[in-house]
This record gives sequence, C-alpha cells and structure tokens, in this order.
Amino acid sequence: METFAIAEREPLSTYVNGRAALIGDAAHPTLPTLARGGSTFLEDAAALGVLFRGVRDADTSTISARLELFNILRLPRDATQQVLSAVMFKPQPASALGERIRPFYSGALPDAMLGGWNRMTCDFLCQYDVFRESEKAKRWADERKWQWISKLPDGPVQHFGQVLQ
Ligand SMILES: Cc1cc2nc3c(=O)[nH]c(=O)nc-3n(C[C@H](O)[C@H](O)[C@H](O)COP(=O)(O)OP(=O)(O)OC[C@H]3O[C@@H](n4cnc5c(N)ncnc54)[C@H](O)[C@@H]3O)c2cc1C
Repeated sequence: METFAIAEREPLSTYVNGRAALIGDAAHPTLPTLARGGSTFLEDAAALGVLFRGVRDADTSTISARLELFNILRLPRDATQQVLSAVMFKPQPASALGERIRPFYSGALPDAMLGGWNRMTCDFLCQYDVFRESEKAKRWADERKWQWISKLPDGPVQHFGQVLQ
C-alpha cells in the first residue's frame, strides 16, 4: 500500500506580486478534511474571469490593480478555508481562530461555531456565489476609481469574501 504525507500550511499573506498571481493549491493548499481544493480553485478562476472581463490591451498598472482586487476578494475566504480544514474534527468559535485569521483578515468575525460539518460550515462553503461577489467587488472598485490599497478594508469586504453593497 502506498502512503502519502499530508502537511498543514499556514495561509500566505498575499497571492499577488505585480502582474503574477497564485491560484489553487499553489496559493492555498488545504487538508483533505474539507474536500474543497478543487472547488476553491474554480472559485479563483471564476473571480479572475469576472474581474478581467472587458480588460483589453490593459496597461500593466490596470492588470496589477485588478489582481490586487482579486487578492482582497479571495484571500480571506481561501485562507479561512485553509484554517477551517485544520479544525474540522474540533469545531470551535470563529473568534477562537482569530489569532490565525487576523494576519490576513481584519474585519469582524461571526461568533459562531466553525469546523465540523455543522450547518454554518456547510453554508459558508456552499452558499457562496463567487460570480455575484466578484461582480460586487468590481462595481465597488469601479465606482470609487479604486486603484491601490495596502490592506483589506473593513467595510466593503466582510466575512470571508462577501462584499457588502
Ligand atoms: C485524493 C484526492 C481527493 C480530492 N478530493 C477532492 C474533492 O472531493 N473535492 C475537491 O474540491 N477537491 C478535492 N481534492 C483536491 C483537488 O484535487 C485539488 O485541490 C486541485 O486539483 C488543485 O488544482 P490545482 O490546479 O490548483 O493544482 P493541480 O491539480 O495540482 O495542478 C497542477 C498541475 O501543474 C502541473 N505542474 C507542476 N509543476 C509543473 C511545472 N514545473 N511545469 C508544468 N506543469 C507543472 C502538475 O503536473 C499538475 O497537472 C482532492 C485531492 C486529492 C489528491
């Protein structure tokens, strides 16, 4: 019988460097407890599709700015799933995971049980509409003629990639 080692990795602080971006397992490898690696790389790809729609012959700063938006949209959700995959067998309040989540997410955390196959975990994983949230993020950025930010804004990007109107 062949055996494979599995390793837990801490979330990265960014997926983007200039015009280069990591997606999928290269960006956010999760433990197999969640069975979410394939789903999250599809979410990454869908977000890129929305954020880069209509971008033609873009200058390098436009590409970099869109990728930065991709980063602030995706990283909280992807990284949170990484953390969740490690606590699937030991459900605990999201606030107790704060120390691990804070480096990449500064917004409010719901004080609910995360981890284990409870209703909230299922909703978090499966009720997310990546197309809708990406459209909202793009609209939010376009309306503000947004170019660069150095950290996640607490207001518009809340709760694991859900963008408030
Ligand atoms: C046994 C198992 C069960 C799983 N079950 C689920 C599940 O039920 N649900 C789910 O959502 N996810 C599941 N996953 C996770 C999912 O398969 C991965 O998260 C997903 O495949 C990651 O996709 P990716 O494109 O990021 O990386 P990969 O699928 O690893 O693709 C990377 C590709 O790059 C190629 N490559 C690497 N280096 C180079 C190089 N230098 N040059 C060119 N090519 C290179 C590799 O050969 C590979 O084809 C499972 C994984 C495993 C192993």
